[in-house]
Amino acid sequence: MKLPALAARLTPIQPVLRCPLCGGQLALTDGRSLTCPSRHCFDLSAKGYVNLAPTHDQTGEKYDAALFDSRAQVFAGGFYAPVAQAIGDALTQALPALFPPPPAAVSGLSSAAPVPGALHVPPTGGHMPEQAAGRPAERTIATPGTPLLLDAGCGEGYYTRALAARFPNIAAMGLDLSRDAIQHAARSATQINWFVADLTRLPVADGTVDALIDVLTPADYAEFARVLKPEGVLIKVVPAEDYLGEVRGAVAAHLRSGAFSNERVLAHLRAHADLLSQTTVRHTLPVTAAQAQAFLRMTPMTFGLTQDQLAWVTFSQITIALEVLVCRMRHGAA
Ligand SMILES: [Zn+2]
Repeated sequence: MKLPALAARLTPIQPVLRCPLCGGQLALTDGRSLTCPSRHCFDLSAKGYVNLAPTHDQTGEKYDAALFDSRAQVFAGGFYAPVAQAIGDALTQALPALFPPPPAAVSGLSSAAPVPGALHVPPTGGHMPEQAAGRPAERTIATPGTPLLLDAGCGEGYYTRALAARFPNIAAMGLDLSRDAIQHAARSATQINWFVADLTRLPVADGTVDALIDVLTPADYAEFARVLKPEGVLIKVVPAEDYLGEVRGAVAAHLRSGAFSNERVLAHLRAHADLLSQTTVRHTLPVTAAQAQAFLRMTPMTFGLTQDQLAWVTFSQITIALEVLVCRMRHGAA
């Protein structure tokens, strides 16, 4: 994409962007780069994204272009559409004024969606003051500004795209440390801001994010708490025990550990956040041989296997089983 178009897309979210190295405010310079007062400089890419982690060594990435092609094939098959739907429903349930239901579902209510415009940035730096954490929710709903959704570890951007399409009033940011993933993501969805960035150093100001999505990817809860508004929500999606059970069964002989448990992940989450709701998305669908191969090649479960070992594996159905967890961070908790 042309750099002026990318610069124009960045302009509405520019007030919340922060340098991942020093925390200084990022500003657009000459329409070609984002720079901070300490002169850290990140160039806009004509491919439609900004690399905020240019020193990250991409050569050892297991998450390479081939893997994201496999994932794109799986997403195109619609296997994860109910997951995207569940995340969107959870956003509407948790923050109905910011993530409104579709017009048909609003019976007799005038739309409470905020007017699109520049993002609201809290006047204070540092962490949110006590009175902000305790202020009534309706105060936030009345605040003008565009709801900000951040997809941390967005991969090729499937969920970012689905949510931006469902909630056209929001500003959406997709971040991933893999450049291949972001290049894949940036090929479509022109209204989303894509960044190569580390989710442990999110490039946004304190208390500016309304909804943070963390799907099948590691979390940094201290960092999530820093960037979320006090009334903002984290939606974390984790595998249920039988997620991709057919893959696990087919390659069981090659796996170090047999059964999978999400208990440790959930315990870690509960140590940092209050669970507001939990929804299980579970369905088993038939797959073609080509889709089975795509599933095999998109999951970290098979990273220890060679191409030859993967080539003969097949199965005829696949189970998608995920927990959609809606949480509110406990601000101030370590
Ligand atoms: Zn800086």
